[in-house]
Amino acid sequence: MKKVWKVCIDPGHGGYDPGAVGITGTQEKDVCLKVTKKIKKLLETHVDIETTRKTDEYLTLNERSQFANTINADLFLSIHCNSATNNLAAGIETFVINNADNNTKKLADMVQTQLINETKATNRGVKEANFAVLRETTMPAILVEIGFLSNLEEENKLKNDEYINKISESIVKSILTYLDIDSNIDSNSTFLNKKNTNITSDQLKKWAKNNNATETFINNADIYYVLCHDIDIDVTFAYAQYAYETGFGKYGGVVDESFCNPCGLKINAGGDCKDPNAHQKFQNWKEGIMAHIDHIALYVGLENYPKTDTLDPRHFPYLLGLGATVDSICQSWCPSNPNYGKRIKEMMEEIATININNTIYNNQKTLKKILINNEIKEVECVMINNHNYVKLRDLESAKIKIDYQNDMPVILCF
Ligand SMILES: [Zn+2]
Repeated sequence: MKKVWKVCIDPGHGGYDPGAVGITGTQEKDVCLKVTKKIKKLLETHVDIETTRKTDEYLTLNERSQFANTINADLFLSIHCNSATNNLAAGIETFVINNADNNTKKLADMVQTQLINETKATNRGVKEANFAVLRETTMPAILVEIGFLSNLEEENKLKNDEYINKISESIVKSILTYLDIDSNIDSNSTFLNKKNTNITSDQLKKWAKNNNATETFINNADIYYVLCHDIDIDVTFAYAQYAYETGFGKYGGVVDESFCNPCGLKINAGGDCKDPNAHQKFQNWKEGIMAHIDHIALYVGLENYPKTDTLDPRHFPYLLGLGATVDSICQSWCPSNPNYGKRIKEMMEEIATININNTIYNNQKTLKKILINNEIKEVECVMINNHNYVKLRDLESAKIKIDYQNDMPVILCF
């Protein structure tokens, strides 16, 4: 079983100690608590999370570090806002104790880098300081100064909920990445942000047939194949997850084939697993599979995600990057079932060992002229098994209508 990590977040100041106070009166203690509550909400499905204070109350520095030590936290993160006499001072900085160990430095680097990448704030770097909460805690501990309340522009940002969410999401993302890497849980796990260049659509189909999959399931291999290649997601994971979620297309639960829902995606509002109406119905398989792949890509944290034009009903920004590997995505997607990831990994291995002769995959992209709707268009193709495949999304973005006969895209070959 995977260890459940314990994370302690410490919102600075509180009670009669407001911390820094901004030009328009924003109090550091309130901003810190807001960020902490948001982090807790985002993290609590992944780790055991505790906070040193939940309300506007005063705690001594000693109480904060003792709390983290007593609950045996694996990681301690204190949130603060900065202040300086120079009201132009700006940016984000992260503190570690003097001569910090490598894990602490790694955590600080990850948090600082992620925050700067996402907020585009001035990078003041990772610094050393002999702060009590860093010195007296017994686990990797960092203190993040998320912006200057003495700078009017930054104070205004820190008053904005969207900005607070961005800060919180960045911190959550780096904590999760840090814990995965540090724990070595994912050291044997496959990263999903790549094409599986040795796998072909025929291989997926043969594997599906070997497992008595339904006709629809077998045929949908083509859509998975093309769409996964479109955005560089490992097709064996996506297709294996479809197999696991639907019993190779046989369904049997509250969702059936008519939903065109390959992975039990719920509606935006969510709902009970036993309630068919809580599950999304798609117009056709292409749309359902596109939604599935967008949902995976969001977890993987691909560039350009989250998307605004997705069919994924649960495309929540906080999911971004929470599952870059098979282990981490399965843990996030289905935390209640430890066999989920294990079985999907087995299936991926099965697919990889299916033998199909005369498979030639050539990742070279070429421009080809093709005739669509009586018009000659020049489109980018990839060569697979001596066929030139056109990216469906390229066609759609060029406003070319694609014919979906019985939900199957007509794949253009030359
Ligand atoms: Zn402070």
